[in-house]
This record gives sequence, structure tokens and C-alpha cells, in this order.
Amino acid sequence: MTSTSPGGTPVNATTRRTVLVTGSTSGIGEAIATAFARDGADVVVNGRDPQRTDAAAKRIREAGGDGEIRAIAADVGTADGVRLLTDAAPDVDVLVNNAGIFDATPAFEITDEDWIRYFEINVLSGIRLTRHYAPRMVQHGWGRVVFISSESGVSIPKDMIHYGATKTTQLAVARGFAQEVAGTGVTVNSVLPGPTLTPGVGTFIANHFGDGIPFDEAERRFIAEERPTSLLGRLIRPEEVASLVRYLGSDGASATTGAALRVDGGVVNSIIP
Ligand code: NAP
Repeated sequence: MTSTSPGGTPVNATTRRTVLVTGSTSGIGEAIATAFARDGADVVVNGRDPQRTDAAAKRIREAGGDGEIRAIAADVGTADGVRLLTDAAPDVDVLVNNAGIFDATPAFEITDEDWIRYFEINVLSGIRLTRHYAPRMVQHGWGRVVFISSESGVSIPKDMIHYGATKTTQLAVARGFAQEVAGTGVTVNSVLPGPTLTPGVGTFIANHFGDGIPFDEAERRFIAEERPTSLLGRLIRPEEVASLVRYLGSDGASATTGAALRVDGGVVNSIIP
């Protein structure tokens, strides 16, 4: 006989889950997709460019796991791109809204177009996808939605207020959706990574200190000079963010919903997010 756990999942059932990670051709998204794939989930890999998306899917497949790894190129910053993605993958059990862009622009120089573009890619993408997938998860009685926010959502960088504002908004959006699906077996949470060694951040730090200095020394100086509140004393690795998201996507995380969870190496000097 199969009984049901408090989290709504049949105990003893072997369930192969389908996980969609937006923006999984690189960095944190690729590490998250790899973690779920290694657990044996079917994973949908996404990015804007078909070649980059196929190449990432190949790397993720080769990293282990026996699930199906699909590559779906779609720009989640547009309604058409989201439709393309949801048509190709109509149902998922775990949605990780990871796709995001960031750059530094002085506060008074951020244009209307940039404000709108940032909200479309970093916020509306996750709203549109959650609106599609979460009601289906509710029908199935199980689901997980995770928004990848940032420490910048609670500690606004003055040269990235357009970015920080989108990351704050994600926290509110995730909390609101969690309330909407309360008591259904579906959870919605946000994760706030701190400075993480992704390819873009690695290049930024290498350029910041110029040539001739070993990367580990540049990393140490960057943290000491630019992120002195970090308790970790180094950049976070994408796999360290992925392990929290993997947990949130699991059966075991059934009582964690409507939460904002930090994986920031303690860089935000606060007890709560
Ligand atoms: P990344 O290495 O630049 O990767 C970004 C990913 O998003 C790529 O796979 C990119 O794919 C994809 N992407 C961008 N725009 C897209 C769009 N419109 N449609 C579909 N895919 C899109 O970034 P990351 O550093 O791993 O950051 C991932 C998330 O973590 C972001 O939400 C970011 O805000 C958050 N975060 C990062 C850090 C950090 O220190 N790195 C810290 C806190 C939070 P293609 O380029 O192949 O299209």
C-alpha cells in the first residue's frame, strides 16, 4: 500500500521528476541543472542561443545521471520566448527561475529602456513561467518553484540599482505566489546567492586587478577590498548555490515555503534576509 507523507508525496513511490532551469547554459544555472541531472531527474536546459544550449545539455548529460536532458533555446525575457518554452515542455515538477542579467551603470544613467529590459528578463520571465507551471503543479499535488534572487536584492549596489530592484521584486513575487498555492503540496521560495565565481564574475575580477596576478590572489583581494563583510572570505562556487536549490527542489523541503534563503557566505550583515 502506498501512504502519503505530510508533504503530499506518496511514500515508496519512485518518482522521476522533471526540472526546468532557465538560463542553464552557464554559471549558477548550469550547476543547478547538473545537480538535478546527477540525481536522476529529467532536466530541461535553457538559454537564448541554440548552440550554447545544446553544448550545455551535452556537458550536463556527460556529468552523470540517467534522466533525459533536453535543450530548449528560448528567450524567457519575452512572452513569445516563454510560450515557445512552455509549448515544448508543458509540464515540469520543479521550476528554477534562474535566468538573469546584470551590469553596472551609474544610477542617473540607467535609461527607461534598461529599467524595462531588466524587469522583463529578471522578473517577468519568472512570473510568466510560474503562472503557467504552478497551477499544473497544484493539480498534480506536488511542485517546487525557486526564484534565484541575489544579496543585491537586500543590499542594493549603488551602481546596479536596476539589478537590485529586480532582485528585491523577485522576493516579493515568490512570497506572493507561495501564499497563492498554500496547502497544495507546491512550495515557492527564493534563494539569495552572494558573489559567486561564474565565468562573468571571474572575467570581471581578472580585469579589475589587471594582468600578472594569480587568480586566487585576485579573488582574495576582491573579497577583502570589495566584499569585506563576507564571512566566507572567498567567492562562492556555483555548486554551493546548487546544493541549496537541490534541497529546495526535494521532497524533504516540504515545510519550507514563502521563504527567502541566503547562500551568500554571510556577506549581508544581517540575521534575516
Ligand atoms: P551567467 O553565468 O551570466 O548566466 C546567465 C544565464 O542566463 C546564461 O545561461 C544565459 O544564457 C541565461 N540568460 C540570460 N538572459 C536570458 C534570457 N533572456 N532567456 C534565457 N536565458 C537567458 O549568470 P550567473 O552569474 O550564473 O547568474 C545566474 C543567476 O544568479 C542570475 O539570476 C543572477 O542574478 C543570480 N546571481 C548571480 C550572482 C553571481 O555572483 N554570479 C550572485 C547573486 C545572484 P545565454 O547567454 O546562453 O542565453
